[in-house]
Amino acid sequence: MPWSDISSQKTVCALLKRSLQNQRVHHAYLLSGDESAGERLGMGFAQALNCEKNNGDFCGICEGCRAIAGGRYADVHHVKPESRSRSILVGQIRELEKSLFLKASQGRCKVAVIHSADRLMEEAQNAFLKTLEEPPAQTVILLLTSEAARLRETIISRCLVVPLRPEYGREKSAVELEMETWLAEFHDSRAEAPAVFRAYRLAGCVLGELKRMKDEALESMSENLKDAAYENLEPQQRERLKERFEAQAQADYIRERGGLLRSMQEWYHRQPQFWTDARGAVRTRPFEIIERLSRRLNQNVNESLAWEVALLELAGEQGGEGR
Ligand SMILES: [Zn+2]
Repeated sequence: MPWSDISSQKTVCALLKRSLQNQRVHHAYLLSGDESAGERLGMGFAQALNCEKNNGDFCGICEGCRAIAGGRYADVHHVKPESRSRSILVGQIRELEKSLFLKASQGRCKVAVIHSADRLMEEAQNAFLKTLEEPPAQTVILLLTSEAARLRETIISRCLVVPLRPEYGREKSAVELEMETWLAEFHDSRAEAPAVFRAYRLAGCVLGELKRMKDEALESMSENLKDAAYENLEPQQRERLKERFEAQAQADYIRERGGLLRSMQEWYHRQPQFWTDARGAVRTRPFEIIERLSRRLNQNVNESLAWEVALLELAGEQGGEGR
């Protein structure tokens, strides 16, 4: 099963394949996004690193490929959250490190796959930092997570962050589609307005849209309160109901905002010029900026400021060919 079979993640597959062919494999990758897509890519990468064909792709039928798919390849190590605590504990990381410091016994390359990496406990993250920075020879570490925002900066900064293309599984909303148009204008190399000016204009569009989302969520909350014959309730019941609707409005808003961020990720995914620099080396800057923005927004920072900072950073990113 070669890379071409993972059709929903074309850009990422091409990137991983190219780094194998150019023998410029990074020591640690953070595959950030839908975890089942991450699992598939991680498996493919482990296979490609060890496949008999050794041409950047994987065949899926040689002994190595099959053993890796079956989870019985001695040099591919999987670490998953313990079923009871749903966490990855420091003991598991120590165990993994022991194996990684041994010589590869079967293949060309040892691979460590950390599933649900956001479940790494504080102590486990600390224990892992050094290995992540300087893994033993012939070792590649793959962190998979759908919630990169939960990982510490120190972990993220030691990996090449590879954002997966969001899988929608539904029609994009009007505002998600609108975002794509805005981004195309924002990065239009023929635009006359300076990049900084375009960044502020885009910030204006986004913040206006977010305000509308927030207003809508609040409005539907007061509708719900009316429907619930709010006035007839005991004060205590009233308070509880109000809290519930407020939490609901907040959750609706955060979900819509998440959709907006996803549509940004998705747009950059379709623009290959943002994936390489002028010399053809892999870069994922726009995605790092969006990830960081998403992390900041979850921390209840000043929302407008967070957007402006991120969009100004993005304004400096004109893609490889434009520079
Ligand atoms: Zn193979």
